[in-house]
Amino acid sequence: MGKKFFTWNFDDGLEEDKEIIRILKSCNMGATFNLNSGLFGKRQMIGRIGNLGVKEIPQSKYNADKKTILKYSIHYRIPEDEIEQVYGGFEVASHTADHVDLTKLAPMESRWQVEEDQRVMGEIFQQPVVGFAYPFGRRNERTKKLLREIGIQYARTMQMAKDFRFPEDSMELPVTGWIAKKNTLAVMQKFVESESEEDQIFLMFAHGYELDFNTKECNFDMFQRICDMVASREDILCCSTGDAFRYHTNGGAYV
Ligand SMILES: [Zn+2]
Repeated sequence: MGKKFFTWNFDDGLEEDKEIIRILKSCNMGATFNLNSGLFGKRQMIGRIGNLGVKEIPQSKYNADKKTILKYSIHYRIPEDEIEQVYGGFEVASHTADHVDLTKLAPMESRWQVEEDQRVMGEIFQQPVVGFAYPFGRRNERTKKLLREIGIQYARTMQMAKDFRFPEDSMELPVTGWIAKKNTLAVMQKFVESESEEDQIFLMFAHGYELDFNTKECNFDMFQRICDMVASREDILCCSTGDAFRYHTNGGAYV
């Protein structure tokens, strides 16, 4: 029988991550947080339609625009002096220093955006940063080559997975479930029941602010429910995405 991995991915380094981590610790679950070292402590509002955050808007502009029909959620990033204390013990991965679309930058700038993130977070946590999440899911062959060159071992897209297989290309890791989607629990149930000779992975994606939407799907009770579905199962390893890859490829060691 293959091994089964369940891994959380939270993007952008948001204040809600503190409550998320409190719950993850109580369930003894690992997770990966994709951070932007150039945006620590930044404060913005995020507009939303239903379960989807749609646009970051500076607070000054939000206050001035009274005619807007969108609902807004506060979107605060954790400041640099709290980063180590909040995320210590979890995997932190790069999401570029400034949350930029790497396909639109010159090669030198793209490289700096990832290497700077690796440097800053490597210094804070004293661990190599080998994971990556593409901002906006944007990538091409050039960005994938660059990531491999600078020691990134896996990179997550925004594409929805069709099954629970590990991707052939570790720079094309898809999302299996997104808390904002209506079918998330059904897909999880399928994963819990599935048996395969191959290793399987379920990558659950969320932005912390989505749990504050308090819609039917996006709320902290749902987050707890998802944790409870997998955390106590002996046949599912709930770990960081980096650990899932390392156990899958070489029994857990950094290469
Ligand atoms: Zn992001």
